[in-house]
Amino acid sequence: MGDPPLKKLINRRVEVVDEMVEGLVAVYPGLARVPGQTVIVRADAEAVRGRQVALISGGGSGHEPAHAGYVGPGMLSAAVAGEVFTSPSPDAVLAAIRAVTGPPGALLIVKNYTGDRLNFGLAAEMARADGLAVEMVVVADDVALAASSENAGRRGLAGTIFVHKVAGAAAEAGASLAEVAAEARAAAQAVGTMGVALSPCTVPAAGKPGFTLGEDEIELGLGIHGEPGVRRGPLEPADALVDQLLDAIVADAGLGRDDRVALLVNNLGGTPTMELMIVARHALAVLEGRGLAVERAYVGTFLSALEMAGVSLSVLRVDDARLARLDAPTRAPAWSHADARPRGPRPLVASAEGSQAEAPSQFTTPRTPLGVALRRAVHAAAQALIEAAPRLTELDQVVGDGDLGLSLERGARNIDPPGSPSDAIYPFDDPAATLHELGLTLQRTLGGTSGALYGIFFLRASARLRSLSPHDDPRAWAEAFQAGCSAVAELGGAQVGDRTMLDALQPAAEAFSAALDAGQPLKSALDAATRAAEAGAKATADLAPRRGRSSYLGDRALGHPDPGAVAVATWLGAIAK
Ligand code: ADP
Ligand code: MG
Repeated sequence: MGDPPLKKLINRRVEVVDEMVEGLVAVYPGLARVPGQTVIVRADAEAVRGRQVALISGGGSGHEPAHAGYVGPGMLSAAVAGEVFTSPSPDAVLAAIRAVTGPPGALLIVKNYTGDRLNFGLAAEMARADGLAVEMVVVADDVALAASSENAGRRGLAGTIFVHKVAGAAAEAGASLAEVAAEARAAAQAVGTMGVALSPCTVPAAGKPGFTLGEDEIELGLGIHGEPGVRRGPLEPADALVDQLLDAIVADAGLGRDDRVALLVNNLGGTPTMELMIVARHALAVLEGRGLAVERAYVGTFLSALEMAGVSLSVLRVDDARLARLDAPTRAPAWSHADARPRGPRPLVASAEGSQAEAPSQFTTPRTPLGVALRRAVHAAAQALIEAAPRLTELDQVVGDGDLGLSLERGARNIDPPGSPSDAIYPFDDPAATLHELGLTLQRTLGGTSGALYGIFFLRASARLRSLSPHDDPRAWAEAFQAGCSAVAELGGAQVGDRTMLDALQPAAEAFSAALDAGQPLKSALDAATRAAEAGAKATADLAPRRGRSSYLGDRALGHPDPGAVAVATWLGAIAK
């Protein structure tokens, strides 16, 4: 109570860690909580502490799934969760040690931050006074900071997770405390990490971001607590950023041709998986391009900084023994999802027959007046859609999902490719065939709801036109237009008045037909159709949506025209001109 609102899924700010721990043990039956502490232990800790070395890690919270997510057979025995970005107390660490440590002893895996070193160090001291065998290994994998006496030394970052895995597998295999500590230390020495942030994060208790970044700024080499990095710079393409991270890591570790490594692509919290894969793809290419053998690649959220957008890359040098540790089974919830396959030659998946775009056939320049007019119309419609894309995007952002402008622009560029005259693609002198081809191109390239609807519009219009003659009779085109409208209504299940593209298409088809019936020339009929489409599109602003994405908005769409209907008026207007 009393906290100013903060846009996070939390209750009281002071209870976030406690409630997270409650959630963890409620969700995972393999985890248990030490009463009165924010300490998570293996549920079978009592049963195993007599026979294997216990592994304990932890630190401030906010780095989930670290570290509680790595508790389980084959990884950690216990994780100590401090307040967000705050080192846990010696008391809490000691409670963890006591809960899981038996005669084989315990290894504390600590990230190199002054607070963690002191609190874990003091707890180890107290546990030793109790007669327990306790060792500590400190992970300092951050290659962005030069190791120097000027600062607290390199920070512990996502490479720590590799150390958990290696040590956890060793302990599970029955290694002694000295052996587990030695493997953990060697792994800590063999891993380098560097990250880049695109956005900061907000500690619930603080209520505001730890630092700010401009719209097009990034922070290279940052820590995982929102502490600033080594360099701030302009946003660059993902590949360029990956190059810089890997340059630093590879140089620092002195990695070269034929060295074997494992790669960890870590989401700092707010990065879409799509972007992680884009990063992973280039990271693999760069490492393999340098002649390194990337034996394993793990991609996911391993050690985060709340909702920070960005990634860190960790590269661990491996040999057969260490690889076996990485591959050993574990039931720790946060690692098991990330199991990486051995990398090797990839089988190429053959593309299914017919799924590829057919090579454009060669047609000659239209010779008939109708062919010439049709070519002009296709070009004008496409150019108008390309020009209108920003406005259609804006409209679709208000009432839909914002993709319509780009979809129609993509479709337009495909039916009227720059530089290559559309003559080469469409047999304009055979209008029915041209409409058919337009339908095929649009259903293939447009995407979204519009892709299917424009596809069927042209396919049906083409079929109708083919059944009529002569093709240069505007009345045949009026019938084809109407057939297209009916097909859109049939496939989409919408009627006029449902606030869709049909509210522009249908009145336009009717006005076109009526004008011709009244004996008006083609040009006036096209003008009439355009005016009807414009009026229909404008009127959609007063209609409640019942079809498509905007139907989720209900009355909130009122006052804004339907983008699909506006698009129809746009291309029709361009043809009429
Ligand atoms: P989505 O993003 O849903 O895939 P698009 O952005 O491609 O859709 O197209 C949105 C437009 O499609 C809407 O503005 C509307 O005009 C039209 N539309 C949506 N649903 C229908 C439907 N059932 N029938 C006719 N047109 C529809
Ligand atoms: Mg859309």
